[in-house]
Amino acid sequence: MTSAMITAMCETLHALYPEAATELTYTTPFELLVATVLSAQATDKQVNRVTPALFAMANTPETCYQLSYDTLCSIIRSVNYYKTKAKHLQQLSYQLIEHHHAQVPNTREALEALPGVGRKTANIVLSLVFQQPVIAVDTHVQRVAKRLGLSTSIAQRNIENDLLNCIPSTYIRYVNTWFVLHGRYVCKARVPLCHSCSLSFACSFKHS
Ligand code: SF4
Repeated sequence: MTSAMITAMCETLHALYPEAATELTYTTPFELLVATVLSAQATDKQVNRVTPALFAMANTPETCYQLSYDTLCSIIRSVNYYKTKAKHLQQLSYQLIEHHHAQVPNTREALEALPGVGRKTANIVLSLVFQQPVIAVDTHVQRVAKRLGLSTSIAQRNIENDLLNCIPSTYIRYVNTWFVLHGRYVCKARVPLCHSCSLSFACSFKHS
């Protein structure tokens, strides 16, 4: 895709998804961090079903750390891998209290040092909370990037680099939410809705 088409694609996505917001429900950086940790190998809907009760009891590192493991498990048990995630939430809350004044840090290094936080989660927090030009790559981003011809790699780190190299810098922090929403509702995995896709002018994959 030419750079002019990539810019046109970004402008189209910006018009389609002006909020560029995750569908995870949160109101604070800590809540986003917790919701994103819970979303690993789980759907946003699963996570959004448990976080209202969780955040009502614990929406700070201090209050989350004070919850017992059993209580945490009982609140999040409908989310995949809830036992491991409950441990991670306790441990990351403790580390935030001990090392970051109970605040969510704004560097990749500090975020990835937290239990349960990998590159993808760190990138989501960095882009949505701290407006940093990074791209979290998940299955939707991977699929949409491939179909649009923006990356031929199957390795998430390579896809991230390919996107960073071709997307205009002002748009980079929106790419994850744009591609997730587009992949979820239009460029679906099994049957992409190419006939009604606003990106078809730029897409190398489209078929009817
Ligand atoms: S034209 Fe089809 S394959 Fe291309 S981005 Fe749109 S839905 Fe996906």
